[in-house]
Amino acid sequence: MITINEHYLKLQASYLFSDIARRVSDFQQANPDREVIRLGIGDVTRALPRACTEAFHKAVDEMAQDLTFRGYGPEQGYEFLREAIAESDFQSRGADITADEIFVSDGAKCDTGNIQELFSSDVKIAIPDPVYPVYLDTNVMAGRTGAFVDGRYQGIVYLDSTRGNNYVPELPSQEVDLIYLCFPNNPTGSTITREQLKVWVDYARDNKALILFDAAYEAFIRDDSLPRSIYEIEGARKVAVEFRSFSKNAGFTGTRCAYTVVPKECIAYDSKGGRQALHSLWNRRHCTKFNGVSYPVQRAAEAVYSEEGRTQTMELVNYYMRNAELIAGSMKELGFQFVGGENSPYIWIASDRDSWKFFDMLLNDAGVVCTPGAGFGKCGQGYIRLSAFNSNENVEKAMARIRLALG
Ligand SMILES: *Cc1c(COP(=O)(O)O)cnc(C)c1O
Repeated sequence: MITINEHYLKLQASYLFSDIARRVSDFQQANPDREVIRLGIGDVTRALPRACTEAFHKAVDEMAQDLTFRGYGPEQGYEFLREAIAESDFQSRGADITADEIFVSDGAKCDTGNIQELFSSDVKIAIPDPVYPVYLDTNVMAGRTGAFVDGRYQGIVYLDSTRGNNYVPELPSQEVDLIYLCFPNNPTGSTITREQLKVWVDYARDNKALILFDAAYEAFIRDDSLPRSIYEIEGARKVAVEFRSFSKNAGFTGTRCAYTVVPKECIAYDSKGGRQALHSLWNRRHCTKFNGVSYPVQRAAEAVYSEEGRTQTMELVNYYMRNAELIAGSMKELGFQFVGGENSPYIWIASDRDSWKFFDMLLNDAGVVCTPGAGFGKCGQGYIRLSAFNSNENVEKAMARIRLALG
């Protein structure tokens, strides 16, 4: 008899986006003349930078000729891309990361989801609340949690991100082995300072723990004093793995390219307390289960680091950040408590209402779609997330409507 992995049965069905879609469609049916503006999505809306599409086209042409055709590439990614990443994203900012510590992949979602395979099933895990659901669900699937009770999985140490701590969690009161952090944060848009990140790195070093640092929104940081990589913090090479993606900075959500950094000194322990290099474990996993990102996509990603690519990527990020400023400015004007929008494309807005009531009000009174915070965890109750991923025109229109409806 074929039996299933019953840990899957503990997963909470996510009704978040289907609930949103249903409410929006009900609203549209009742109000066919009203135009709805969607600021709920966490997906980019603008075209790839020209430098990327040109490199992409050129690489496709190479694949069309026997002489320049490429079959399987290195699982870890082509040297040209890994070198460009190491040099531009790390070495130029004083972070000592080399090309052979970079693993190119088809997404930070997959990497943040897959990395847990390297750890034993009884590690104690700390996960922020609210959270990008991948970290939590992949550990549920792997059997590292108990049942879901009162909105939380048993066995997980939740790191509350609230107004009280300015959306940067404090160290847990009980000892943990594996820590997920994401800054700039999705969904809150909050950022972490060097000093605050150092506290976590020191904790990991003192407790033989490991930090999984998701830096998918690094490109949106405008305040130069904020760390863009955890490797800007002294000692992080031994205790941190970092995830990056071309999805949000260069619009690769539909093109698919990302990378994970596993420094050679980064270690975890075997049951006898022996030190094991995570680099060789991740390399083994990656080569066994993954056959590399397609050559044209890696050429398109490489173009992000060309002179034109840098300029165009920056323009793309600035375009969305204008929206973020506009949203933050309007929320300020309306007197809402909020975080984000200064160094991130998300604005996390508090109210004294239930998340879904807030959602319904924005939809009914302003025709604007947001994401209810409760969908990201218990601490998200009472909040909504507005996203800067839309056109400047739509965001201007949406903010004018919200000011009119709530002002
Ligand atoms: C969008 C996003 C990613 C990137 O995912 P990809 O699979 O690379 O598209 C990673 N982490 C967070 C928190 C995100 O919001």
